[in-house]
Amino acid sequence: MDCIFCKIISGSIPSHKVYENDSVFAFLDIYPCSEGHTIVMPKKHIGLFTEMTEKDASDLFASVNIISKAVSRAFNLDGMNIGMNVGEVAGQSVPHVHVHIIPRKRGDNGGSMHSIVETNPGNENLADIADRIKELL
Ligand SMILES: [Zn+2]
Repeated sequence: MDCIFCKIISGSIPSHKVYENDSVFAFLDIYPCSEGHTIVMPKKHIGLFTEMTEKDASDLFASVNIISKAVSRAFNLDGMNIGMNVGEVAGQSVPHVHVHIIPRKRGDNGGSMHSIVETNPGNENLADIADRIKELL
């Protein structure tokens, strides 16, 4: 498997691991956005979040919850952004599912999830949009 994250999990590429269990591996981002920026990923090679089973996603986010609490305490954080880039268009640079835990401090000049993309679609048709999604659940 020619996947850089699979190589990090196997240890063939060294990393600063912070957590590991049967299904999840977490390490420090080598290009941190802020001190303590941590990547949490499934050990199984899965390209996109939307390809994960509910069980795999649950295991992943249970670990994100555990690790985020430790990161918060380790750096006495004011907050954090927790999120993932799903697909190349959204900025996913490694095609192996991963969640970013990005520590935040007051005055760090960072943005919120609302600053990621602003196509300003309006909110007049939210009921129709909700129906469109609900039909597929
Ligand atoms: Zn992989």
